[in-house]
Amino acid sequence: LRSPYHGGHLEVIVGPMFSGKSEELIRRVTRAVIARQRVVVFKPAIDDRYHATHVASHSGRIVEALAVRSTEDVRAYLRGERPLLSEAAASPDVVGFDEAQFFDADLVPLALELASSGARVVLAGLDLDFRGEPFGLMPDLLARAESVEKLTAVCVVCGAPATRTQRLIGGQPARYDDPVVLVGAHESYEARCRVHHEVRR
Ligand code: ADP
Repeated sequence: LRSPYHGGHLEVIVGPMFSGKSEELIRRVTRAVIARQRVVVFKPAIDDRYHATHVASHSGRIVEALAVRSTEDVRAYLRGERPLLSEAAASPDVVGFDEAQFFDADLVPLALELASSGARVVLAGLDLDFRGEPFGLMPDLLARAESVEKLTAVCVVCGAPATRTQRLIGGQPARYDDPVVLVGAHESYEARCRVHHEVRR
């Protein structure tokens, strides 16, 4: 599993929800572990605690990960200021990030620093938000990556390759201006193709 690149590099995995981004991240990380490389995976915390967690795909595969609230948290782990899951994760060969779109903008310089110091950095995230627009720092990462994989899901309406994430609120397509966090609303997400992706204006 020697890198084709001299030193470190960035690999980005994107696509809509259900396209298999987490599965692909888990696949790559698992192979690195089998090759006895030092691996650490980070994902955004949904609550205020730092803790060990896992990346799970919709099909149920999991790999260990650390939940973080910010890129600064990641830096603190990598500086050794917090216990990692395993000692092997100190000075890692491979650093994974799931749900990269939810990280703050400092993830871009951190990923570049890690790559420059020789690490293989694997980032999985949504390329587009529910409106079909570029998601946060993802365009920046996509432009800077050595390798980009765009995955598709299956459109739940027609079965074509799905490139968009449909947001539904109470069963209706979300509006362009609907807030990203809606307290008390029944929300769901579906994979859809360009034709069947709807955003109400
Ligand atoms: P992502 O991280 O991109 O959201 P996951 O890796 O978590 O994707 O899940 C991918 C899995 O989701 C597929 O292997 C499949 O089992 C399941 N799945 C559910 N709905 C769909 C869909 N509409 N299209 C493709 N896969 C789907």
